[in-house]
Amino acid sequence: MINKFSNGLLFDTQALLDEVKSWVEIETPSEDDMAVNRLVDKIETDAKAAGAKTKRIAGQEAVPGRKYGDLLLVASPWGGEEPGVLVVSHIDTVHPVGTLAGGLPFRVEGDTAYGPGIYDMKGGAVIAFAALCHLIRASGPAKLPVRHLFVSDEEVGSPTSRALIEEEARRARYVLVTEPARDGGKIVTSRKGGTANFNLQVTGRSAHSLGPQDGRSAVLELARHILDLESMNDYERGLYINVGVIGGGTSTGIVPDHAFAKASLYSFDRELAEKTIARVRALKPYDPDVKIEATVRMGRRPGYEKTPEIETLFQHAHKLAAEIGFELVGVNGPIGGDANFTAQFAPTLDGMGPDGQGAHSHQEQIVISSLVPRATLLLRLFETLG
Ligand SMILES: [Zn+2]
Repeated sequence: MINKFSNGLLFDTQALLDEVKSWVEIETPSEDDMAVNRLVDKIETDAKAAGAKTKRIAGQEAVPGRKYGDLLLVASPWGGEEPGVLVVSHIDTVHPVGTLAGGLPFRVEGDTAYGPGIYDMKGGAVIAFAALCHLIRASGPAKLPVRHLFVSDEEVGSPTSRALIEEEARRARYVLVTEPARDGGKIVTSRKGGTANFNLQVTGRSAHSLGPQDGRSAVLELARHILDLESMNDYERGLYINVGVIGGGTSTGIVPDHAFAKASLYSFDRELAEKTIARVRALKPYDPDVKIEATVRMGRRPGYEKTPEIETLFQHAHKLAAEIGFELVGVNGPIGGDANFTAQFAPTLDGMGPDGQGAHSHQEQIVISSLVPRATLLLRLFETLG
């Protein structure tokens, strides 16, 4: 079924898996720019060999002393600078060098392949790159130019790539992001909700521990607010609050006049997130003699809502997937990832990578049999979008 679209050159499961293996075996933690650049070298060489145009942008410092890997743009030889299809893949992973030799070696068990970053997101980056190379070699030119941007610092929030991602998205007609598929192969058609970090500072009054009635304990006050914050959790509706760090006081002999807590909020539901953030901002002390101050830092990534243009793009992809032989389902994903940057400017589909599970863990894995159908879907999108 898949074969009929491939103009004689088929995607081959073993060939794709071998390619995924070779990318996984170059370990690329975000913090190690030299390591990331080794994979950039390989992609650049392979892209040139396939007849693509390439542009490499040297890694930059986000803060002094913290440099990230190079960014790489691989483009179809046709179409020049005109608006086209933008593919965004990050090649950095959360796994330190040595994971491959230790906790998560590359291995294949039946229809499952394991390895650091294989699911998030080298599998997706490889199939999109393979589809682009195939398009250039065997099918192209397509109606639109295709530009594939390889990002080196997504796992730390894309500090040095965000500007280029947005610049490319601004002039794109469509954007496809190759983050992993979710939950049995579902793609992502929105990433909305909210994220925030809270910093609570409590100021009481110190006193000798032999006369605590003269003091006002900041630790006691904070303890009450920790329980309040944790009670705002609403797992059913997808609101997660975690008080992750606390501190306060100086000695058991002193009623503490200072205490602090740091917490995170994470929600799939923007309205619920905003309501909860407003509650935290408005926290009042239980003890009127104590001062509490809540500082809120909102997540840097904008929300990504499913617009009518995204629905149209999704329907098109859905039809192509049906022709290939699988049903494409679109879901809302959590905020996070470069799609939150691109969707402000162009209709974006995310989760275009292979099926699997275990991102950011030593169980990270992909479903091998999902490689060919998803590579084919990407190729068909490149061929038909216009
Ligand atoms: Zn990712």
